[in-house]
Amino acid sequence: MRTLVMKFGGTSLGSEYALNRAGDIVSGQIGEWNQIIVVASAMQGVTDMLLACAERALAGDQEQFQSIAGELHHKLTSTAGKMFAGEAQLGKLIETRIAELNHICQRIQDQGAASPGNLAQIAALGERINIHFFSTILRNRGLSSEPVDAANLIITDGCFQSATPIKELTDTRIKEYLSPLLAGGTIPVITGFIGATLSGETTTLGRGGSDYTAAILAESLGADEIWIWTDVDGVMTADPALVPNARLIPEISYSEVFQLAYSGAAVLHPKTMLPAREANIPLYVKNTFNSKCVGTRVSHCSSSVRHTISAVTGHFDIKTITLKLKPGEDLYHIKSLILAVLKNQGIPALAVFQAEHNRSICFAVPTNNVEQAIQTIRESWTDKSSGRTSPQENGDLSLITIVGREIYLSPHVLSEVSKTLNNAGIEIKRIGNGNSPDAVVLAVEPRLGQKAIQQIHDRFVLNGNSPTSQMEPFLRHQPAI
Ligand code: ADP
Ligand code: ASP
Ligand code: MG
Repeated sequence: MRTLVMKFGGTSLGSEYALNRAGDIVSGQIGEWNQIIVVASAMQGVTDMLLACAERALAGDQEQFQSIAGELHHKLTSTAGKMFAGEAQLGKLIETRIAELNHICQRIQDQGAASPGNLAQIAALGERINIHFFSTILRNRGLSSEPVDAANLIITDGCFQSATPIKELTDTRIKEYLSPLLAGGTIPVITGFIGATLSGETTTLGRGGSDYTAAILAESLGADEIWIWTDVDGVMTADPALVPNARLIPEISYSEVFQLAYSGAAVLHPKTMLPAREANIPLYVKNTFNSKCVGTRVSHCSSSVRHTISAVTGHFDIKTITLKLKPGEDLYHIKSLILAVLKNQGIPALAVFQAEHNRSICFAVPTNNVEQAIQTIRESWTDKSSGRTSPQENGDLSLITIVGREIYLSPHVLSEVSKTLNNAGIEIKRIGNGNSPDAVVLAVEPRLGQKAIQQIHDRFVLNGNSPTSQMEPFLRHQPAI
């Protein structure tokens, strides 16, 4: 029994042309697999528009939220009109979902508050519409297909914007719900990105979370492969939107691609690698618009050579929060405590740096999470009576992450990277690891982030990696954690 889970991202479903291509890709696989499961994101831009509606409603701007909802209505009805003329139920579905959007936004405006549950419900609407579009496309190609809302399958905790599935419940639901459909030869088209609490409230798995949905389904169903269809040829040596000469990586390990995704590469949601690795399911990243290209295979294996750089990525909008430790306080204990509380709040700590001979510790978080992070740290760590100072917010930074097999353990790569950046007039302000031997994180001035990526990419990825062994080991002088 061969089972394939295919996920199509918003970029692969963003226009009539793209939707038709995605339909052709699915029908092209009929006969190759015993079971095919499709995961669909919202059409490109739709989730952003939905969240913009909520934001305008919260600001009390009824005219604006209604106008964005109107634009969305137009976009969806015009796609449906061109692609599915005569499918009246799709028109009705759009009306119902847009009415739901306006209704929740009105409530947000009236109450002057948007609960995380409200926001999840709004964000989920794009996927909830798109599964009907995609399923209709498959049916119009003569295939048996049914739209499925993942709220029936993926049961999560109540962390509405970055929910974690409850594994046993989710496994059972997925098998119970999908097995009869699959046994009857039906292709389920499942909403990516969303789940529900046990009491049925909609949750989301985090922005870009449809990739994760595909991996959760694949693990539960014991799938043979996961194919993630997107708008680039696969996982590349850098974001091709920033680095035009980025190259395709034919094979990469779960661990390396996790680091890359966690450190800013949007091509995959980082959590995708967890179920895939756990169940040892190979995952392919492929280009919807260039389906002849084989793409990237993500598995336990890597084509990269130990201690060489596979790829480079960055986050350009970062703040750091510094904590000063009291004499005798254990840095490693404090580090794991703070990382745990931040994780609990769904705040990504993208790097940890130590300074002043281990007397202070510094956490890098996205700028839009900094206030919440400080508040969280204050509540869990600061204890004025015992003489601890408050966490300090520092200036902006860009974080550059270099990914490669056991790169952090190489004494030489970093010294060469630092030489390359120095020669380009870029000062490395801090060095840390990404909690894995496969990543090194460097902090530079925000305006120099993109230049640093290009320099590292061109020197190491394009022109060979071999570090010179005579170089002075850098880490000996720059302890990092
Ligand atoms: P989708 O809608 O298919 O989920 P995303 O926008 O989430 O697509 O992810 C694809 C994008 O990821 C690409 O368009 C590319 O600009 C970006 N990206 C960032 N880093 C990388 C990388 N290292 N390799 C490939 N793509 C990358
Ligand atoms: N539509 C969601 C988002 O834009 C999920 C996804 O694309 O994976 O974040
Ligand atoms: Mg994505």
